[in-house]
Amino acid sequence: MRLKAVRERIDRACEQVDRDPAEVTLIAVSKTHPVEAIQALYDEGVRNFGENRLQEAGPKIEALPGDIVWHFIGHLQSNKAKRIAQLFNVVQTLCQPRQLDELVKAERSVDGLIEINIANEAQKSGLSTEDLDGYLLQVLNCPYVQFQGLMTVGPAVSDPEQMRPFFGNLRKMNERIGGKWLSMGMSGDMEVAIQEGSTHIRVGTALFGRR
Ligand SMILES: *Cc1c(COP(=O)(O)O)cnc(C)c1O
Repeated sequence: MRLKAVRERIDRACEQVDRDPAEVTLIAVSKTHPVEAIQALYDEGVRNFGENRLQEAGPKIEALPGDIVWHFIGHLQSNKAKRIAQLFNVVQTLCQPRQLDELVKAERSVDGLIEINIANEAQKSGLSTEDLDGYLLQVLNCPYVQFQGLMTVGPAVSDPEQMRPFFGNLRKMNERIGGKWLSMGMSGDMEVAIQEGSTHIRVGTALFGRR
């Protein structure tokens, strides 16, 4: 039911800007939700899931089908990075050199996205815009990490329209550096994100209900 509603939202947003819905990957953010809820969405065809805590995700990943693409979307602590690279397929929250040093120790290839603190918020994780070029070189030189593009969470806003300039800036930044994937948009603002070029939306509440 919820999945159908989300797919309709994706389709409508794509239609408005003449995009093919097949260009938008739906990542079901399953943090705090049990294995059964994930399996139910898997049975409906969802194959991309996002988790933000290693401790919680580990047992779930081991219990669920092996063809799931797991996205790590939480704060990437260096001391957990090796284990994260062993379990996850995509690490969306790269923002520090030390994380890279630890990720490679898994000797397992992962797709990597750089997280950008798009509104330069003091308490937020993610790389500030001016540090992107230097850090990108380090990511590109990192073995086992396949750079795919940029990700942002963005500031909390009351009206999703307020996200449009931030999403638009991230897209331009991603185009400038040759990123292919653009991970932006959540339950409240996926339409604006898709209209601004998102290729990966991370949706929790709209798929699973309240956490
Ligand atoms: C929890 C979370 C989401 C999903 O948020 P919803 O508003 O529940 O859709 C997306 N991205 C990140 C990084 C998250 O931590």
